Order: sequence, then C-alpha cells, then structure tokens
Amino acid sequence: MPPTDTTERLADYEQRYHELAAQIATIGLIHSGSLTRRYTHCATPGCKCHADPPQPHGPYYQWTAKINGKTVTRRLNETEADLYQEWIDNDRQLRALIQQMREVAAKATELKLKQAASP
Ligand SMILES: [Zn+2]
Repeated sequence: MPPTDTTERLADYEQRYHELAAQIATIGLIHSGSLTRRYTHCATPGCKCHADPPQPHGPYYQWTAKINGKTVTRRLNETEADLYQEWIDNDRQLRALIQQMREVAAKATELKLKQAASP
C-alpha cells in the first residue's frame, strides 16, 4: 500500500473524527435514566376509566434510573417530563456520537500504528 494512500485515509478519518467531536459540543444538557408515560384504571365503580370507551387516568410521568445499583424513580408533571425527555434524548445522542467516534478512532489508530511500523 503506497504511503500517500494511508496518509489520505488517515486525514479522512481525522476529519470525520473532528466533525463528530464538534457535534458533541452542540448538544444541550444531558440526563441519565428513562421516562415512562402511564395511564391507570382505578377501583371506583362507575368511574370514567371503566366507561365505554374507557377514559383512563393520566398520563402519569415517571423518571427511572439506576444509581449505584439502586433503582431510583421520580414522579414528574408534564412540564418536567418534557424537559427530562429532551435531556434523555440528548444523552442518547451523545452516546451515539461517542460510539461513532470510537469506530472512526479504531480505524485511524490502526493506520497510525501501520505508519509507525514502516520506516
Ligand atoms: Zn377511575
């Protein structure tokens, strides 16, 4: 393999890597955990949640995360749930970008090692 080819490929990988890093800089606040939205049916006879068609109670929002091996939950109102959803989405986006950076870096470091090995 001619050295210029390796150099070009390495430059491509490094450019891609820096583009991904730049995207990380634009991500807003992040938060761990996940969000659930729940509707419930109560035990009161004749309640609207047992009507036909049923109108269940809710939505109720709950945030759940594992912290130090313990499951932590928090009840949220709709406004809080919207915020949490945004932060949790950002967190997912961040992790996806890091994963892509790892993949690009794996290829780039392989080429760098090859370069270092050749005289
Ligand atoms: Zn009910």
